[in-house]
Amino acid sequence: MSGPVSTDDTPPEDDTTHRTAPPVLERLPARTTDVSGISVRRALPRRRRRTVGAWCFADHFDTGRGEIATSMAVGPHPHIGLQTVTWLIEGEVLHTDSLGSDQLIRPGQLNLMSAGHGIAHAEHTPEGAGGRQHGAQLWVAQPDRTRDSEPAFDHHGDLPRVELGPGLEATVLMGELHDARSPARTDSPLVGAALTAGAAARGTVALDPSFEYAVVVLSGSVGLRGPGLDGTEPVVPGELAHLGTGRVELEVVVDEHTDALLLGGAPFETEPLMWWNFVARTPEEITAARLAWERGGPRFGTVRSPLARIPAPERGPARERSR
Ligand code: MN
Repeated sequence: MSGPVSTDDTPPEDDTTHRTAPPVLERLPARTTDVSGISVRRALPRRRRRTVGAWCFADHFDTGRGEIATSMAVGPHPHIGLQTVTWLIEGEVLHTDSLGSDQLIRPGQLNLMSAGHGIAHAEHTPEGAGGRQHGAQLWVAQPDRTRDSEPAFDHHGDLPRVELGPGLEATVLMGELHDARSPARTDSPLVGAALTAGAAARGTVALDPSFEYAVVVLSGSVGLRGPGLDGTEPVVPGELAHLGTGRVELEVVVDEHTDALLLGGAPFETEPLMWWNFVARTPEEITAARLAWERGGPRFGTVRSPLARIPAPERGPARERSR
């Protein structure tokens, strides 16, 4: 599920990314793409929106939508310069990495891998744990201060929850929401929260006006109210609703069972360069990381996994075009 970005997501010729504006509502369709046989909806990066705070990648997978593949099997592959944030609504995923981590994640828990200078990992549905796999994998770009640091992996089985209103609850994955702070490591000012509602719920989320925010819906739908938001045309799965900066609160109205993600953060320090599974600043850094993975040296180490190692694609001009 920690699918690579392709030139469809971050075409090298396109540097017209919007910088953040005051409260806006910008709705961008997610792109459907394939990650090891499972189709995912990629809400970030999009051509017109590369980052929301330091959040730079958002894949939503749901094998309950009638996929052919019903289990996840992503072989060993490398990362640099980012944190992978794994969150499940349903299913189980086993994470193994080159630090020796061997960690099962279940719904309500958080797997957080900080790649820094380099790490490799594999993720798969464990034997006998078939059934629907529903969740999200997000990436956070690491700032210059930490992006070349030692890699780390953390599992958080107990995350704080906040009651936002009748029937509406938030689990704080990263950062702070209201007075609840996630124990997860953050390298820049940001927040990530999972919103869960039964039927006919509503509530208000206090926001940091210096952050930009976006909402990604995983199931159900979310009506949003605030400056420029009248609650009509609810946000649904398959899109990114970018809300800009300058908001002090967001009113959320839900009519059906809903799972959604609220992502926010201080506008990132720079436009990160993303290629395959790497988040960097210069093409030379990407080339060096690609070569290190292809040579199998110590930078990315070894992952104990029954799955085949994933080779890096060739570098070069964009060959795949989006349709
Ligand atoms: Mn990955």
